Amino acid sequence: MSIAGAAFLQALMRPRLVFDIDGTLGFLTEAFCTALNARWGTSFQAWQMSHYRVEDQLPPEQANWLLQVFATSVTYANVAPDYSGIAAVQAFARTGYEIIVASDRSEDCRAVTEDWLARWRVPHDAVRLGHDAKAQLAASAGPDDPLVLFDDDPEKFTLLAPGVRIYMPRRPWTPAEIPAGVTVFDEWSGVLEAFGVSSDVPIPQFSRMATT
Ligand SMILES: [Mg+2]
Repeated sequence: MSIAGAAFLQALMRPRLVFDIDGTLGFLTEAFCTALNARWGTSFQAWQMSHYRVEDQLPPEQANWLLQVFATSVTYANVAPDYSGIAAVQAFARTGYEIIVASDRSEDCRAVTEDWLARWRVPHDAVRLGHDAKAQLAASAGPDDPLVLFDDDPEKFTLLAPGVRIYMPRRPWTPAEIPAGVTVFDEWSGVLEAFGVSSDVPIPQFSRMATT
């Protein structure tokens, strides 16, 4: 087989890459701790939040208030970007991987989400939103059409199936028991290395562009 043919086949077998946003490419827990502390006089620090669902470790009054914040789309406009994760997405995109951004956020958040992705220069081929978005993507995968999900939510372990793998950035709520098919990672550079993608890439330049 020619080198070009081999490269073509290799590209065909590349998994589709699905990236979660909140907690994976952006600092949502930090934003919620700041909001909670401002509203309730609490002293939460993000690295002390032991539950993926922050509301599960709050008194009902605070939990209900936080759920309202969750349900307000503009909340997501102010999620600070994790440049290291975004640089990794850029490296994958430059290598030719198909990039899908998927979030449990509702469709009501689409405009805010797409604006955020553009503003922070997250390359992507598609944006899938909604509580079932990741499950539908996982269900569409198989051994001949593999998919890798990058997600900080342990509940997404239920999506593991033939052809589906999960890469999980380590968080305070990352469980000790990790099922086969899941890789917990501490550094995005290690992820790129595992995929054979060069991390020797230009550092993306970011800015807060003014809204016109
Ligand atoms: Mg998440």
